[in-house]
Amino acid sequence: MTNKPSPAASSSKSPQDSKQPTAVVIGSGFGGLAAAIRLSARGYKVTVLERLHGPGGRALVEERDGHIFDLGPTIITAPYLFEELWALCGKTLSDDVNLVPMDPFYQIRFDDGRVFNYTGDIDQMRSEVAKFNPADVDGFNRYLKVSETIYKTAFEDLSAVPFDSLWFTLKCAPEMIKLDGHRTVFGKVSDYFSDPSLRTVFSFHPLLIGGNPLTTTAYYCLIAHLERLHGVHFSMGGTGSLVKGMVGLIEGQGGEIRYDSEVSGILSSEGKATGVRLASSEELAADLVISNADSAWTYHHLMDGKPANRWSPAKIDRTSYSMGLFVWYFGTKTKFEDVYHHVMLLGPRYEGLLKDIFTNKKLTEDFSLYVHRPSATDPSLAPEGGDTFYVLSPVPNLDSGMNWEDEGERYRAAIQKRLEDTIMPGLGDALSTSFFFTPKDFETRLLSMKGAGFGMEPKLFQSAWFRPHNRSEEMENLFLVGAGTHPGAGVPGVLSSAKILDEIAPDPSVFQR
Ligand SMILES: Cc1cc2nc3c(=O)[nH]c(=O)nc-3n(C[C@H](O)[C@H](O)[C@H](O)COP(=O)(O)OP(=O)(O)OC[C@H]3O[C@@H](n4cnc5c(N)ncnc54)[C@H](O)[C@@H]3O)c2cc1C
Repeated sequence: MTNKPSPAASSSKSPQDSKQPTAVVIGSGFGGLAAAIRLSARGYKVTVLERLHGPGGRALVEERDGHIFDLGPTIITAPYLFEELWALCGKTLSDDVNLVPMDPFYQIRFDDGRVFNYTGDIDQMRSEVAKFNPADVDGFNRYLKVSETIYKTAFEDLSAVPFDSLWFTLKCAPEMIKLDGHRTVFGKVSDYFSDPSLRTVFSFHPLLIGGNPLTTTAYYCLIAHLERLHGVHFSMGGTGSLVKGMVGLIEGQGGEIRYDSEVSGILSSEGKATGVRLASSEELAADLVISNADSAWTYHHLMDGKPANRWSPAKIDRTSYSMGLFVWYFGTKTKFEDVYHHVMLLGPRYEGLLKDIFTNKKLTEDFSLYVHRPSATDPSLAPEGGDTFYVLSPVPNLDSGMNWEDEGERYRAAIQKRLEDTIMPGLGDALSTSFFFTPKDFETRLLSMKGAGFGMEPKLFQSAWFRPHNRSEEMENLFLVGAGTHPGAGVPGVLSSAKILDEIAPDPSVFQR
């Protein structure tokens, strides 16, 4: 193993050129960007290395034919986590980014045409519940309390602390057991709602972070309270404006982001991370290495020939991964005014469909879709008179053995037909631009194990201590942030993973030369 920078490294601009302690961040997803901001604010000189042509990871922006597409996250909650990053740099989030609250948060449309408007207003929610089943209003009132209690412990107290000590985990266990973490979201929700449609409305949230509501730990009931407490927001100009703002913060603090720069290995000496090797063979020395790459990929492919101990290839293979995503991005020449900004367009089945996606790993003919129409809130994201959309379908990850090259276009056309038959009549004639990503693209573009949309599945025994730790036990000075580590996927989760670095990454003075 090479531990000294190669001649290529010394001829390139290396963070080691300065006396300032240095950190290299692998990947510019929200977790990586937040880590870079936090480390810069503490005095590290940070270099972010990103294999794609631009920043954001899953939140990369693509412009096609005048339509601006956010490729990934669209629902922004817990804005205080962004505000903290701006404050660390002596700035104010609202000077750079305009977050507007969504009301309702989502429109949930059932196969029979009934619509549930999911809002943050409790009285309005009671009316919506009553519309479906008046007898469940009481259960809704009680469920609010349950979600709040879980939120307070599982998110407020424990999402931004490192779960890398078994002792700490055991200490938290009694409190966590009281929260029914051994139950599932669907099971817990079913205690409070008897109506099958309402069970769907209140249990679908884990899908937003790659979990199966039928198996995901009931801790994720917290999302309902998180959204109500902090709101659901849209970032004007698209989620990309948050990414752009974060890049500005990093550069403003003297950090650097290099694109088209794939890391092929993490260098180490005497059990300590010492830098990275790029696919171009260039080596970059650093005092700290932070991996925002998929945690499974990091331990499987980036250990520079040294198999990880805790996360051995066999264990990584045994681990279960979140579902895959089929995302169809398209623009239209005309406007579809009746389509709300966030629509959950449900199919005829719920539990059966979830079992097919997560357990049977079978691509089915029916689907439940999330339809995103950002130009409903910000018309500047589409050319004059048109609309910009994406539609997302949860599908099995690559364990399905599906050949997406053959299947992709057929599946896209089936989604188009479903939209034409329901909320978007005439869509085919209105299309102006179109492209799609399959789980295969998540594997090849984002280096996501098994093409999973959200990294490792958020199950009880793949959460907290059982998930890859933020402080790697494989090498000193190697840290992990992002969806595949604690606390998990979703923008609030990955921003929290970066916050944990403040506690576990050494003070830069340790490396002062
Ligand atoms: C379609 C979609 C919609 C979503 N919607 C929402 C939503 O509305 N709200 C929400 O909160 N969450 C949403 N999520 C989840 C959320 O986007 C993710 O959990 C989160 O953005 C992941 O961030 P991350 O920090 O893990 O990094 P990622 O976004 O996974 O980025 C990792 C980066 O690392 C780079 N990389 C990997 N390996 C290397 C390497 N070897 N060298 C260099 N670079 C490398 C990759 O290219 C990538 O840019 C959505 C996800 C998807 C896919």
